[in-house]
Formats: sequence, structure tokens, C-alpha cells
Amino acid sequence: MRIDLHAHSNASDGTDTPAELVAAALAAGLDVVALTDHDTVAGHAGAAAALRELPGGERLTLVPGAELSCRVEGISMHLLAYLFDPAEPEFAAERELVRTDRFRRGRAVVEKCRELGAPISWEQVQRIAGEGSVGRPHIASALVEAGVVATVSEAFTADWLANGGRADVPKHETDPFEAVRLVRAAGGVPVFAHPGAVKRGRTVPDRVITELAAAGLGGLEVDHLDHDGPTRERLAALADGLGLLRTGSSDYHGSRKTVRLGEFTTDPGEYRKLLEQATGAKPITA
Ligand code: AMP
Ligand code: FE
Ligand code: FE
Ligand code: ZN
Repeated sequence: MRIDLHAHSNASDGTDTPAELVAAALAAGLDVVALTDHDTVAGHAGAAAALRELPGGERLTLVPGAELSCRVEGISMHLLAYLFDPAEPEFAAERELVRTDRFRRGRAVVEKCRELGAPISWEQVQRIAGEGSVGRPHIASALVEAGVVATVSEAFTADWLANGGRADVPKHETDPFEAVRLVRAAGGVPVFAHPGAVKRGRTVPDRVITELAAAGLGGLEVDHLDHDGPTRERLAALADGLGLLRTGSSDYHGSRKTVRLGEFTTDPGEYRKLLEQATGAKPITA
């Protein structure tokens, strides 16, 4: 069983449509793929339709999810949420709040980039983002188009868009204790995304992870491109000590990142534990 529990479509900052993502998961030989766009479930319907329509779709299980933007003690972090009820109103309202604030913040980031001499525009960023939940990766693509930087990852430095960088502007981010509560109340399973991704900035201390576990966190994403070997070992031990499940995933973003779908995967036993905890929605099959 090959299980990849974290992937983005163009409903947020991936480059594949939800249908293309499902096709890519089939081509990669995955058995399970989770669609976890930032702060939105807008891609779920298109992915589910593709699963029914594509040849071989019966080989794949789609796990509907999202990746929530959170902040604790001044540190930005991401919380994956799986198999929650997307119609549960309190959690839906919070996703809407974050998504809406992304527009205000996107405009402000573009303005800062322009003041720093980058010839990009909000119209251009909106064209790149389309219907997607707008984020820094779209602005990074605009900076690439304008020839300011050569690649999306070069835009994520202190000079431009990195956390605390010259053109960075914070967006509304949910307190993760509140987010864990909302996800559980909607029947979902919350998993801390790439908790040891030091290249993105300061990471959340183990003390807070311990408190989150007590508050209902379900798991830690251990196997991830942004974690080196020692970090994975440390996080695996932390998860075991706290009784949390461990996941592994690519965090695929199409052509906006170089990681391949299925490059990191989740152990089937851990996936089973996740399914046992979920009551808000069922995995989707053709
Ligand atoms: P935002 O959600 O708008 O705050 O932007 C955060 C997103 O930027 C993350 O979800 C990643 O997709 C992307 N990102 C963050 N750091 C990097 C990086 N160093 N290189 C490439 N993409 C990054
Ligand atoms: Fe992203
Ligand atoms: Fe993330
Ligand atoms: Zn992600």
C-alpha cells in the first residue's frame, strides 16, 4: 500500500487541477492520496468526480482534507485535517475567515514587493492564483515571471517572502488549540504538518506539541522533505511518547515544488489508526 497524505491542487497553491492531481496519483501508483489544500475544501468535488471518471480510478482512495494556517506563540505552523464534515458551520466559518484574509494580505505583500522594486501586480497574482486560495507561492510565481528571482524557492528568502522577510505580511492564522478543537468537533483528525521544517522559520517547541496532544491532536507528520534524518527520528520518538500517529507525505504542489507525489508515504498501520479516529467523512472511492 502506498499512501500519500498531503497534496495540493490549484484550489490552493498547487499547479494541478484536482482532476490532474488524481490522474497524477494514479500514474504514480498510489493506493491512497489525501487532498489537503490550504484553508479550503474547494477541490474535493473535482477530485471525487475525476476518481469516478478516470480509467483505473477504482484503484485509488481519496482522503478529503485541508491544511490549516495556524500560529502559536508568534510561530506560524500548519495543521492538516482529515475526514472532517465540510459542512460543520463553525469550522467552515474559520476556513472562510482565513481564506478571505489571504486577499487583504496578498495585496499588501504585492504592494511591498512593488516598493522594493519588483514589477509585479495584484492582477497578475490573481491571474496566477485563479480561483485558488491565494498565497505567497502565487506571488513567488509572479516574481519568477517578472524575472526578479529564478525559481519559486528563491522567492522564499529574507529578501522577499520568507517568514519575517522584507515583503512578508502576516495573515490571519488560527490558534492551533482552537483549530484542533474545531477539527475534532467536525469529526476530523488533526495532524501537525512538517513540525520540524526549520528552513521555514522558527518551529513549535515540544512543550507546545505535548499540550496540543493533550488537547486532541491526532498525529505528527514525520516523514517529509523538510525533515532531515535526525529530525525524523526525534519526531517519531516524540509521537510514540505522546501516543500520536505518525504520517509521511510528499506535500506535493505540482510544478511549484520539485517533490514528487508519493516521494514520502505513510505506514498502512498508521493510516488505519487515522481512519479509526475519523467520524466526519468517509474516504472517497470510485
Ligand atoms: P502562505 O500560505 O501564503 O503563508 O504561504 C506558505 C506556503 O508557501 C507554504 O504552504 C508552501 O507551499 C510555500 N513555501 C513556504 N516556504 C517555502 C520555501 N522555502 N520554498 C518554497 N515554497 C515555500
Ligand atoms: Fe503550500
Ligand atoms: Fe504546509
Ligand atoms: Zn502543504
